[in-house]
Amino acid sequence: MPTDFSTRHWSDVVIIGGGIIGSSIALRLAQAKLKVCVLDRGEPGAEASSAAAGMVAPYGERVEPDSFFEFCRASHAMYPDFVAEVEELAGSRVGYRRDGTLMVALKNEEVAELNDIEQCQAMQGLAHERLTGEEARKRVPALAPDALGALFIPQDHWVDNQLLTAAVISAARRNGVTFVSQSAVRKFNLARNRVESVDVNGGADGSRGTFSADVFILAAGCWSGELMRSVGVSLPTKPCRGQMMEFESSSLFPWVLRAGKHYLVPRSEGRVVIGTTSEYAGFEKAVTGDGLRSILAGAARIAPGVGEFKFRRAWAGLRPDTADHLPILGRSDWENLIFATGHFRNGILLAPVTAQLISELVLTGSTSKPIEAYRPTRFAP
Ligand SMILES: Cc1cc2nc3c(=O)[nH]c(=O)nc-3n(C[C@H](O)[C@H](O)[C@H](O)COP(=O)(O)OP(=O)(O)OC[C@H]3O[C@@H](n4cnc5c(N)ncnc54)[C@H](O)[C@@H]3O)c2cc1C
Repeated sequence: MPTDFSTRHWSDVVIIGGGIIGSSIALRLAQAKLKVCVLDRGEPGAEASSAAAGMVAPYGERVEPDSFFEFCRASHAMYPDFVAEVEELAGSRVGYRRDGTLMVALKNEEVAELNDIEQCQAMQGLAHERLTGEEARKRVPALAPDALGALFIPQDHWVDNQLLTAAVISAARRNGVTFVSQSAVRKFNLARNRVESVDVNGGADGSRGTFSADVFILAAGCWSGELMRSVGVSLPTKPCRGQMMEFESSSLFPWVLRAGKHYLVPRSEGRVVIGTTSEYAGFEKAVTGDGLRSILAGAARIAPGVGEFKFRRAWAGLRPDTADHLPILGRSDWENLIFATGHFRNGILLAPVTAQLISELVLTGSTSKPIEAYRPTRFAP
């Protein structure tokens, strides 16, 4: 039923932004019997959360033993249960695979990089397997004949993030969450250091509505900073564009294949997603000739057969980057406004742990894991 904007709406919690972060938090809060409303300026789930590659992969990197790696690891460990629960609640599958990543070296600098990554893995006792180019090609025949070597990271997972995001939204709806689409929050109404309500422009005719709540959660991805700037609060989020392409392929890829910033991620029904770019081009979500050329060349270097795959589609999404590339989680200066944003390249991976900790913060006032490193106030001059 369309939302009637002429009446005032009240909920226990209003969440601004219905991407994977806002929707996962909404699900947890609804399961705790709160009345939750998610406002989205477009269609819930249609932005970065659908645009992503879906890697749930904290291990296939040069891993530093720091608190952010531990945070990513915690969320990675929650993934099997998170997916099983969401699939059960939504009644649909989300293409979750736990088969691992193959990191490939095609030039000498990349061999040096793999050595470095391997050393970090070994120092931390993480599972990995070093392969020669020939050994790697035996396992993945589509791999480039000039691959010099590879590092297999068995613990990395991936998911069809579009299906997962849709399933989280469906699970949240089934638990009573109201999603209001085409409703952009434009204004915070404040009183005594609290947010009393937000005003939205919504519906096809742009009518105005007001949504009140006890608690507000800002999960508006790369638009979070812009929204806060409108009320004089500095929140350094910025959009980082990533372009992607999808093909149909006859080659079977048993794993995610990566070389440098390029990757191929297998999906169901013989599809393969390739990416990506990292561009700071404002809020422009365009797919560009240079972007496509770069990702196609990058993927063809890993698996030359890509050139013959059947093209299906291309798209771009905006990662929510921050000044220090870490998420922004926790209470704002306004006592009932909580931030859950800035997940940059890791929002799919970090959805389960973010949902758990932000819902704990709402329900109990504290979190079972430290989030101090991600406090919104860390950017204050
Ligand atoms: C090309 C690409 C590849 C990626 N690959 C991976 C990957 O492999 N693994 C991984 O973990 N992460 C990956 N990411 C990152 C991941 O997609 C993001 O970190 C994550 O989706 C962020 O989720 P979100 O809910 O915060 O943001 P979004 O999904 O962008 O959702 C924010 C929502 O807020 C809404 N909104 C904005 N402003 C307002 C307003 N004023 N009022 C109401 N609603 C508003 C928007 O409409 C949107 O629906 C990738 C991203 C891209 C672009």
